[in-house]
Amino acid sequence: MTRLVILGKQGAGKGTQCALLVDHFGIPHISTGDMLRAAVSEGTELGLKAKVIMDAGDLVSDDLILGIVEERLAEPDAENGFLLDGFPRTDAQAQGLVEMLAPQGIDIAIDIEVPDDVVTQRMLARGRDDDTPEAIQRRLQLYQEETAPLLDFFSSRGVLAAVDGLGTEQEVQSRIISAIESRD
Ligand code: AMP
Repeated sequence: MTRLVILGKQGAGKGTQCALLVDHFGIPHISTGDMLRAAVSEGTELGLKAKVIMDAGDLVSDDLILGIVEERLAEPDAENGFLLDGFPRTDAQAQGLVEMLAPQGIDIAIDIEVPDDVVTQRMLARGRDDDTPEAIQRRLQLYQEETAPLLDFFSSRGVLAAVDGLGTEQEVQSRIISAIESRD
């Protein structure tokens, strides 16, 4: 049970939970946001393209994202499992992921549920460069339009587990681990 996807709005605690989960399961943490931020700070062509889009709170193109994820999943450390964070975010990305992994699929997709007002407060408090009120609003809107429908996508494949994202990091962590272990 180690091909995992973490879903949830920005500010739902995905990054924090992923850091704890990779230690627990010994699998690589594959975050498209982290990969894009690394490209931005290295000043690569991809980074230059992505920065403007990220600052506006928009989504980087599906082709570009699918390309970097496919490359990353081909690396040896991802052979026995991985934790995908911030991907897939659109229907095209979810379809692309299924194709990449065929004939296997995802073992479990965990949705960390946190209401909009709570994630907005958390994002304003963490104060990342791209956390302006306009970008936060835009990301929540895109989450509803593009990413929330993926809950049905994973649910219809019988791999969705919804977890309450309110409470301490440890509480949320225990809920996620029980959701994963109850499927083994
Ligand atoms: P994150 O750290 O996952 O919140 O991602 C930060 C930003 O990177 C997002 O606001 C998007 O602009 C971009 N990004 C990250 N992952 C994706 C993805 N799967 N599809 C499109 N854009 C992405």
